[in-house]
Amino acid sequence: MISSFLETPVEFLKGVGPSRALLLNKELNIHTFGDLLTFFPFRYVDRSKFYQISDIRDDNSFVQIKAKVVHIQTLGTAYHQRLVATVRDSTGEIDLVWFQGIKWVLDMLSPQQEYVIFGKPTVFNGRWNISHPDLEIPTTLALPISETIRPIYNSTEKLKSKGLDYKGIGKLVRNILLNDKFVMPESLTHELLQGLRLINRQDAFVNIHFPQSPELLKKAQTRLKFEELFYIQLRLARQRYGRLQKHAGHKFLRVGEYVNQFYHHHLTFELTNAQKRVIKEIRADLGSGNQMNRLLQGDVGSGKTLVALMTMLIGLDNEYQSCLMAPTEILARQHYNTISGMLTGLDVVVRLLTGSTKKAERLGIHEGLQNGTIHLLIGTHALIEENVVFRRLGLVVIDEQHRFGVAQRAKLWEKNVVTPHILVMTATPIPRTLAMTLYGDLDTSVIDEMPPGRKPIVTKHLYEPQRGKVFSFILEKILEGRQIYIVFPLIQESETLDLKNLSDGYEAIVRVFPPSRFSVSMVHGKMKQAEKDREMQRFLDKETQIMVATTVIEVGVDVPNASVMVIENAERFGLSQLHQLRGRVGRGGDQSFCILMSSYELSAEARKRISTMVRTNDGFEIAETDLQLRGPGDLQGTQQSGIMDLRIADIVKDEKILKYARSVASEVISKDPTLSKKENDILAHHLRNMDKKQQNWGLIS
Ligand code: ADP
Ligand code: MG
Repeated sequence: MISSFLETPVEFLKGVGPSRALLLNKELNIHTFGDLLTFFPFRYVDRSKFYQISDIRDDNSFVQIKAKVVHIQTLGTAYHQRLVATVRDSTGEIDLVWFQGIKWVLDMLSPQQEYVIFGKPTVFNGRWNISHPDLEIPTTLALPISETIRPIYNSTEKLKSKGLDYKGIGKLVRNILLNDKFVMPESLTHELLQGLRLINRQDAFVNIHFPQSPELLKKAQTRLKFEELFYIQLRLARQRYGRLQKHAGHKFLRVGEYVNQFYHHHLTFELTNAQKRVIKEIRADLGSGNQMNRLLQGDVGSGKTLVALMTMLIGLDNEYQSCLMAPTEILARQHYNTISGMLTGLDVVVRLLTGSTKKAERLGIHEGLQNGTIHLLIGTHALIEENVVFRRLGLVVIDEQHRFGVAQRAKLWEKNVVTPHILVMTATPIPRTLAMTLYGDLDTSVIDEMPPGRKPIVTKHLYEPQRGKVFSFILEKILEGRQIYIVFPLIQESETLDLKNLSDGYEAIVRVFPPSRFSVSMVHGKMKQAEKDREMQRFLDKETQIMVATTVIEVGVDVPNASVMVIENAERFGLSQLHQLRGRVGRGGDQSFCILMSSYELSAEARKRISTMVRTNDGFEIAETDLQLRGPGDLQGTQQSGIMDLRIADIVKDEKILKYARSVASEVISKDPTLSKKENDILAHHLRNMDKKQQNWGLIS
């Protein structure tokens, strides 16, 4: 069913040739006829509508007018000539301007002739003009392909210089659609098409480029969006099924000495109901005989680490080792300290392995892992290096998953004959739609309840002139014995600038809080690990009252006595980053505060981010807003997911279609998990073709 026509190199398309083909390859990644057909218009202009010249406004969009040529002149020097044709309708005048092909246009233009003119008006020297418009003599001739609704394609400067502007690209697409050999093989079963009342693929492709009517355009869009989302979901559903089948997991049946000892004698507080529920979900996975692949979502401070620890203890009760991987050294260390602290008095051997672990110690750890004397290993990526081999690795916990590439996770996986259980923890709540697309293969658990006694953080937005007030507030809190974070953004365009920004800020703070009475710490990414750790430690030990930092402290670090978070240039941070930063406070019993500092000048988007932070502490609500503001492309973790490659669907705007596609896909897979029934041939075939094109990220993502 592979259509050789669609596989034809674009070079052989009428109107292309070798040099345009090369540009299409390079600029738009279009290699074949099929690629060109899936290069969809990004918008449409309804050519049945005519503007009156007096109605033209500066909204930078295309207009179509019907007007008569009243004046033609060439202006400028011999080298910089332009041709200006003034046209008029009953309401006014506008200039049409050409900078190239002047001779040809002069020959073609007839004075007093009425034309249908199409283009993008701009103001130049106080007059409206349209440069290089489309001109046609009004006609009622029926075209072979409707052009009432005209497609507008993205193009690039280079392509435009070779005549491939949106019009040029449209012509090429039309050449394919008008070719006798053009056939778009169907990718959905007859049953699906009928059941969902979708138009067939061939009609969808014709109408997505050259819609015969607004209704057909809508149908074409629905059909193609469904197809795109359906195949993502079908692949996820199949993967999930495959994982459950193929990957028998270690069976953790016992809950024994370690868990009981810890739970009854070491835990100083009661688990929240959410924690209990999630542990139950995890236990069900661990005992099922299938490999667990679970995403644990919960806001900062909701107590995920504790859940991870309990899970590792279940592993230990079943004589398996576990490891916990954190994205940064500081975090790994903190996990190590917290966890070994909580396990004091229990016969559990925990070790820390990071990039800065000394060689002798490292070798000792390697040995302990191999002979099984080490029970829990905590670390950074250092623990997925080749030479780290476990005797019986049963569980891998990954903290703050969005910082790890999928490829890195895959590496972890490969080490073992029997796949360990995987628990991925994230404090960045993932909007449901995104989770469905990105992690459709993961089961999810949510901790949606904070440990008791936490007071919601009070968030305020203040401007530069109110800095004096902020400093006196900070002073007040320090005198009450609290500690303060002040965070500066990384501008990233220049490291020197970032450091300057930070050290200026530091100096300003030290001026107000002089060393004679106060101690101020500073931590940033350029410092050596040992220095960073020393400063963090001093802050933890309450030796310093203020921690001035860049976003190094964004994740995880736990200082319960810190109750004020000041974020400088808050407009520079993304929403989820702001939320993560705010989560550094509110960890103790005290009322905590987050102060977002900004200048008065804010973009609409920055204003929305800041007002969202002020309004709510709910991580899920914040994540939804973030997704709406930025789209999926910029969210952490999406880059490798393939949703960046969506050609037509938009997981925010097309949420309904997405949910639909998901339920249809899981129904198909539940009835025919391997897609081997005859009626599903078409799906299996199409999926295979897609797999060939796309790298398969394997089983963890
Ligand atoms: P997360 O990893 O989700 O950010 P942590 O596991 O670090 O959260 O927990 C934050 C703080 O809350 C820790 O100091 C932890 O000991 C404490 N904590 C966790 N669960 C509970 C609970 N059920 N009751 C009281 N305190 C808890
Ligand atoms: Mg944590």
